[in-house]
Amino acid sequence: MKEIKDLEILENICMSNYTSYKTGGIAKYLVYPNTIESLIELIKYIKNNNIKYFILGNGTNIIFTDDFYDGVVINLKKLNNLLVSKNIICVSSGYSLQKLVSITIEKNLSGLEFAAGIPGTVGGAIYMNAGAYGSAMADIIDEVTYLENDEIKTKKREELEFGYRESCFKNNKNIIILSTKIKLKPSNKKEIQDTIKEYTEKRIKTQPLEYPTAGSVFKNPDNISSGALIEHKLNLKGHNVNDAYISTKHANFIINKGNAKSEDIIRLIKEIQREALEKEGINLELEQEIIK
Ligand SMILES: Cc1cc2nc3c(=O)[nH]c(=O)nc-3n(C[C@H](O)[C@H](O)[C@H](O)COP(=O)(O)OP(=O)(O)OC[C@H]3O[C@@H](n4cnc5c(N)ncnc54)[C@H](O)[C@@H]3O)c2cc1C
Repeated sequence: MKEIKDLEILENICMSNYTSYKTGGIAKYLVYPNTIESLIELIKYIKNNNIKYFILGNGTNIIFTDDFYDGVVINLKKLNNLLVSKNIICVSSGYSLQKLVSITIEKNLSGLEFAAGIPGTVGGAIYMNAGAYGSAMADIIDEVTYLENDEIKTKKREELEFGYRESCFKNNKNIIILSTKIKLKPSNKKEIQDTIKEYTEKRIKTQPLEYPTAGSVFKNPDNISSGALIEHKLNLKGHNVNDAYISTKHANFIINKGNAKSEDIIRLIKEIQREALEKEGINLELEQEIIK
């Protein structure tokens, strides 16, 4: 791997520094490709040598287990091109969603206001069709370019199987999202800023942003929100496993009060799921992803 050009390779990296829960064990390698060509070479090398790998965005929707990760964590943050042409933006997957929101304000473009406060990368947001306040990535994406088995391909929005926190990328771990073209609407800066202000105030009021979390833990089941279910039906608000707590501010958030391990978060998740099934007959589906 070290012979591949334009790769930055870090060894024995503590993943708690790269996840928003601030938990996770040591990964053997953390690799930053500086170009798409070096990413392609890296993937070839990994596949030829049967090495395990994982594509890391900003680590804000994952629970990286505490065990040693004997493989390569690939981070695409160095692939962060951006091109704005009128109301069309072409942006690489490693680009920060928050930075992109700032660009849209600067350029008076509306459509991405919902993403203010979602701390991931563009790639991570596409992968799980991130959304809030009634909008999601699927509403603004025109097409996505990705790498699949050494081949660069592009698909239009209609082909991407977007749904509630779903996309075709979730079902195919061989795919690496490279970039996207999004279409926004020309608008008025003040209106965009006012909407973002309103959403941000709501987040501050309702979410435990002062603690390490990874956003909503579970998808909402039919007819009730996961937060209401956990708080009012299961009475689990404030319940904990060691330093992993169900937030008292928002019951669909698990917070790390300091020394939680991924194992504690996973145990707490399983307890909530067991209670939901036993008491309410509801199968709570995880929105976050456990990486082993
Ligand atoms: C405080 C807080 C608030 C949040 N609010 C929201 C919210 O309102 N709405 C919402 O939907 N989410 C929310 N989240 C969750 C999270 O920020 C989003 O899901 C975000 O889109 C994840 O992006 P990421 O870059 O951090 O992805 P990661 O967590 O790093 O990865 C998530 C998955 O995406 C895959 N992935 C990432 N990049 C690529 C790529 N280039 N190609 C292929 N696969 C890739 C990873 O392999 C992994 O499977 C919140 C999180 C926090 C901490």
